[in-house]
Amino acid sequence: MSQPTQDAPARHPRVIALLNQKGGVGKTTSTVNIGAALAEMGKRVCLIDMDPQGHLSLHLGLDGESVGDTVYELLLEPDVPLQQVVVKVRPNLDCVPSRVDLAAAEIELANDADRLRRLGDKFAPHMGEYDYILLDCPPSLGTLTLNALSMAQEVYVPMQAHFLAMQGFSKLLETVGEVCRNGVNIDLKVSGVILCMHEKHSTLVREVVGELDGFFEENRGNPILSPHARVLRPAIRKNIKLAEAPSFGQTIFDYAPWCPGALDYRTLAERIIAQNDPDFVPDPASSKPSTEVAPVPAPEVPEAPPRPKKTAPVSDAPPEAAEPEPQADPSVAAGTISVEPRMRPDEVAASESKNSG
Ligand code: ATP
Ligand code: MG
Repeated sequence: MSQPTQDAPARHPRVIALLNQKGGVGKTTSTVNIGAALAEMGKRVCLIDMDPQGHLSLHLGLDGESVGDTVYELLLEPDVPLQQVVVKVRPNLDCVPSRVDLAAAEIELANDADRLRRLGDKFAPHMGEYDYILLDCPPSLGTLTLNALSMAQEVYVPMQAHFLAMQGFSKLLETVGEVCRNGVNIDLKVSGVILCMHEKHSTLVREVVGELDGFFEENRGNPILSPHARVLRPAIRKNIKLAEAPSFGQTIFDYAPWCPGALDYRTLAERIIAQNDPDFVPDPASSKPSTEVAPVPAPEVPEAPPRPKKTAPVSDAPPEAAEPEPQADPSVAAGTISVEPRMRPDEVAASESKNSG
């Protein structure tokens, strides 16, 4: 965990839950990569894996078998403090991991009066150590999600702009409304929609995005929505690199830092910071060929070299033209859990043909 400097005033982080009852819409991918982008920009970030599937933990290279205490112990065991559970996964980036046993917490906590506040209570003494706390919710509305919503100030809704997206979104707003009305968290607000796996050339997608934009315009002042609530831009383009990165235990910035998915998440993170920090100046080196400005969809990044180094100036090579090899970040889980990067299929093939030759 980051140590606050002595005499530094306690700062309150933005605590954001990424929530959608629908499965497979991009909650975990967005939590990991927005968190990693914020951390690269110098923000102190903690990611909390509230999903017994443990996908966020795996995405960051934390194997459920090898991690020690997890969200489960944090929720169930009064004597387990946050420090015992937090894993430092990258510079500025902490993770509270989970694994499959977290599913049992739903039942084990069922009769506890304080069951929805357990997580927030454990975090309360440590709030000043972070600028952002992001909670990856499971695709359901049980005790785990309610713990996340009770601690969060804001909700982002990752979704795909598909048929029935508006219905799903209205249902989700009802849920957040209930959470407020029932006193679980009277201050909770929806801050925005994150469009994931976006294919902007589909007419249906454009219509759905138009409906969502219209909804936020028409509902300004709705107490469930924060004043800056909107459909966030850029939309995150569908990009195979985003789907490949988790199997290497890497964020998109470790795996393919200049692919379209990385550019989109980096720009999105800058916009998220700017929502609450008007003085924030984005780094011009983070180049922004986003969906807003690109006249045609960016082609998938070719696999072939030449590949710039992670720190190469963006202007030297267009992001779509090349990207570095995925590589293990030596800082991953430094001193805690080491992660062996797996070989990609093309690397396996190359190695096999080398051996056989
Ligand atoms: P669950 O509800 O099961 O927790 P989720 O909402 O967290 O799912 P993810 O796991 O983030 O969704 O994403 C679902 C799948 O889509 C994953 O395989 C992920 O790698 C892939 N994916 C996410 N975003 C993109 C994208 N922009 N382009 C391509 N694939 C993506
Ligand atoms: Mg998930």
